[in-house]
Amino acid sequence: NHPVIYAVTPTYARLVQKAELTRISQTLMLVPNVHWIVIEDSEKKTDLVRNLISESKLVATHLNAKTPPFEQLKDKDPRWKRHRGVEQRNMALKWLRENFQPKRGKGIVYFMDDDNTYSIKVFKEIEKVKKVGVWPVGLVGGLNAEAPIIDPETGKVTGYKSGWKPNRPFAIDMAGFAISLDLILEKQEAQFSYMMEKGLQESEFLSYFTTKEELEPLADNCTKVYVWHTRTEKPTITGIVPGLEV
Ligand code: UDP
Ligand code: MN
Repeated sequence: NHPVIYAVTPTYARLVQKAELTRISQTLMLVPNVHWIVIEDSEKKTDLVRNLISESKLVATHLNAKTPPFEQLKDKDPRWKRHRGVEQRNMALKWLRENFQPKRGKGIVYFMDDDNTYSIKVFKEIEKVKKVGVWPVGLVGGLNAEAPIIDPETGKVTGYKSGWKPNRPFAIDMAGFAISLDLILEKQEAQFSYMMEKGLQESEFLSYFTTKEELEPLADNCTKVYVWHTRTEKPTITGIVPGLEV
């Protein structure tokens, strides 16, 4: 009787892509009732991703949406550069809204980048989400974690510990929240945008759905870290082994 967790993963072709997707898919194999939505940043779906998804045996939806080139904004306006995954996450939202009717009941949406590190414990927390749940994320930059601050009296979120702009409306990393599918379906207009200020993606998106007071603190009142915003070093290679898919 687990609610379905819709795990939304943007991904793009690069040397480490298969390694990242192997890691994330094998994490998801340990999660009951997950539906993996993988959106490739490409003109066409690739065989590498298609085969990886099918070998995983996960319930999955494979989509693609290419990030526009933004040639005209180069130099002048580099804001979009931080906006990785925008096109892909919006494609997943569109797919959910086309495929499910509001009030369909249990379902939770989690934005799960391909390079982060997820404990299977985070999915137990996600299952508890009623509207919007939040929890700490390890290693975001500045501080060694980003975490909601909880008022011990009321048990509500009063602010955030963050190494970067802690006064953002929601100083929460993409990996630090999940939203009920019903809410996603109700607020049809909620999307990610390129036009928002650098680093305010999560804040602007969450503002469509909730207020700080309404957030549901999870992971033991936000005292546990079950997800890490890791980054994989770009490998320096000097050649390609022929005939090997890496
Ligand atoms: N991503 C993408 N296209 C890109 C760059 C990134 O689809 O051109 C995806 C990437 O695979 C990841 C998410 O967007 O799932 C966030 O990107 P990244 O991890 O590079 O962002 P960061 O963690 O550095 O903010
Ligand atoms: Mn990342």
